Amino acid sequence: MEIESLAENVLAGDRRALARAITLVESLRDDHREKAARLLEILARSGRQALRIGMSGTPGVGKSTFIEAFGQMLTAQGLRVAVLAVDPTSARTGGSILGDKTRMERLSRDPNAFIRPSPSQTHLGGVARRTREAVALCEAGGYDVVIIETVGVGQSETVVAEMSDLFLLLLAPAGGDELQGVKRGIMEIADIILVNKADGDLRAAATRTCSDYAGALRLLRKRPQDPEGFPKAMMVSAVEQTGLDVAWTEMQRLADWRRAEGHFDARRAEQARYWFTEEVRHALLSELQTPAMRAELARLGTAVALGETSSAMAAREIMTQLRGPTH
Ligand code: GDP
Repeated sequence: MEIESLAENVLAGDRRALARAITLVESLRDDHREKAARLLEILARSGRQALRIGMSGTPGVGKSTFIEAFGQMLTAQGLRVAVLAVDPTSARTGGSILGDKTRMERLSRDPNAFIRPSPSQTHLGGVARRTREAVALCEAGGYDVVIIETVGVGQSETVVAEMSDLFLLLLAPAGGDELQGVKRGIMEIADIILVNKADGDLRAAATRTCSDYAGALRLLRKRPQDPEGFPKAMMVSAVEQTGLDVAWTEMQRLADWRRAEGHFDARRAEQARYWFTEEVRHALLSELQTPAMRAELARLGTAVALGETSSAMAAREIMTQLRGPTH
């Protein structure tokens, strides 16, 4: 496959070419990695920028229903929308919470939408690095909005926040008056909390939940990257498609403010630095995966376990071997 012509077709907005390009960046083969790097290099020159929206929520809270309705609202406004996923569970179980094909059926038939399930790699780190590259491909493909969804498992929210301009947390109305055990760390990265299912019998509970979270958000320290009133909690109903337009207005307001104040570009610059560090870290770790290094790790591990050497000494020995005889 010619990388130059693939790049051209991605730039021309061809969805099949975009899908092929993503498959290439997801591949673990060395020759594919080399081509993928070249492709990303060429496409980066396009300078196109989408609004990257990260989104998290536990299974059942309504993520796919929300994205289907929200995505169609945006495409009806003439915007092109891509949906990507970071699903740390798919690698472990082989089955995916986010990736199954029946989700977002109508949106997936929309010519102005592009939906891609999570890459199925063994580590969250690998899934995340490849999804981040897929985001870049979607931007080059001319998508205006890229939604990156994840489930609230492990570190997946943090890594999605590291590739997003805005981060949404989707919640369902709580039964009682407790905050739903949402981890403090997630509250701190959320820009907008959307309490979904604010309809029918659930409406009263949604109102209560929304004001509980609004209260909790007010207790957080004001962040420099936020205008007055953010982060905020709002109610939506994905099924009845209410509140979606207001939520979109607020997302744009926040993004516009951050652009005007320089926070938008500053955040992207910091993120680029983060992913560079991640790539280096990953490359170093993979140096330990050769048969010879694995054998050495096993041998020294046993020596440490037997008390024949200290873990510090053993680690130094590994580092010396990694540097090789020329150093
Ligand atoms: P996901 O696992 O987070 O992707 O959740 P789904 O979108 O699959 O939705 C889970 C269930 O919640 C489905 O039965 C949906 O019909 C329902 N649901 C989603 N959004 C709403 C909503 O706005 N109101 C109500 N009442 N139910 C909803």
